Amino acid sequence: MAFESLSERLQKALRNLTGKGKISEADINEASREIRLALLEADVNFKVVKDFIKTIKKEALGKEVQESLNPGQQIIKIVDQELTKMMGEESVTLNKAPHIPTIIMMVGLQGTGKTTTVGKLANYLKKNENARPLLIAGDIYRPAAIDQLKQIGADLEVPVYSEDNQDVPEIVKHGLAEADKNKNDYVIIDTAGRLEIDEQLMDELKRITEVAHPENTLLVVDAMTGQAATKVAEGFNQDLDLTGVILTKLDGDTRGGAALSVRAVTGLPILFTGQGEKLTALEPFHPDRMASRILGMGDMLSLIEKAQQDYDAKEAEKVAQKMRENTFDFNDFIDQLEQVQKMGPIDQLIKMIPGMANNPALKNISMPEKQIDHTKAIVYSMTPAEREDPDILNPSRRRRIAAGSGIAVAEVNRMIKQFKQAKEMMQKMTSGNMKGLENIPGM
Ligand code: GDP
Repeated sequence: MAFESLSERLQKALRNLTGKGKISEADINEASREIRLALLEADVNFKVVKDFIKTIKKEALGKEVQESLNPGQQIIKIVDQELTKMMGEESVTLNKAPHIPTIIMMVGLQGTGKTTTVGKLANYLKKNENARPLLIAGDIYRPAAIDQLKQIGADLEVPVYSEDNQDVPEIVKHGLAEADKNKNDYVIIDTAGRLEIDEQLMDELKRITEVAHPENTLLVVDAMTGQAATKVAEGFNQDLDLTGVILTKLDGDTRGGAALSVRAVTGLPILFTGQGEKLTALEPFHPDRMASRILGMGDMLSLIEKAQQDYDAKEAEKVAQKMRENTFDFNDFIDQLEQVQKMGPIDQLIKMIPGMANNPALKNISMPEKQIDHTKAIVYSMTPAEREDPDILNPSRRRRIAAGSGIAVAEVNRMIKQFKQAKEMMQKMTSGNMKGLENIPGM
């Protein structure tokens, strides 16, 4: 999980203060030292850390006089505010063109997730703005990049413009003409990456910008590279007018250096973060929410938005109807599991809930993904008739399902029993009759 150790260390440093009625200068110095070490260890840029600590100390000492407030809480608030400022304070969105299409050019080193992020952004715009984007395959050097983008386009039902041509600016020109013709409201250009910044690449990117005049030139940065990311950003920004950054792989165990340094060092805002390999795993970046997530205060707002974005309301109503009518079957059950899985790894979702981020009880939770996969395997081994009517699942059918799914009979039995109990419970709840719930385990 991203920021885990930073988060733990910062919270520890602050916890020592919260119990105290009055905080001395020595307490503040001690906490500052801890915070400084935590940030440096998270690979945050040295100068950024230095400025941060200076501000925290100044603010904390200045506030000491306000005795009406709990001093420990007050310092947490200061750290929260300053962390937010470090990451940019306000959230920044895409620049819009006065006329369609708005053009987004995606640049970055190879392997950072550029092509995937082109797809994620297209999906995001489609879902949130009902947009009709066109993607242009401008990475003609990496073998398979064009096919990868075409596959992403097919998955999302988004058109991809590509050409067998060695002149990328020309491909982009033709792609833009295609977008004009089809009245696409966004164009997202995928470009080539290298392992390091080189002149030839920069030259090509500059020529593309001369053709495309993008409103957004976004640098895709791998969060796992830590503060080295700031060097890359400075390099690209020298030759191109970057408008912002997308940080990928924030689902990994990145220490946090990139997220915390990029804005402060380069002045470039982070617009989005990538939090997984799936095309739905892109979130707008909100410095304030990220700060409270790092400080273990949870991020309910992002969780709610995620649910709204990924959960299909019509689908939910259909399911509720089925529950009321008691016709909820294994097919619906699988649909539901998939809806939940679309929202991302469950342990990550749980950590957005306030107080859960570093809850020791959840530390080694290995969930549900494996269990969900088992459940799906069991259902997939059922015949259509069995999926529709769990009552016909006699012992011999259960043995066949176990053999088919490679899962022990006992587990198959347990799953079917849980399904029946859950169905019974849901039926009671949706029909407004709560009696009988006490018979259900766990209620
Ligand atoms: P490109 O060379 O920059 O175009 O990189 P790709 O888009 O091909 O991505 C490189 C690898 O990173 C692929 O395996 C992606 O699935 C993976 N990837 C991209 N974004 C994320 C992310 O946010 N989280 C994780 N875990 N993997 C990602």
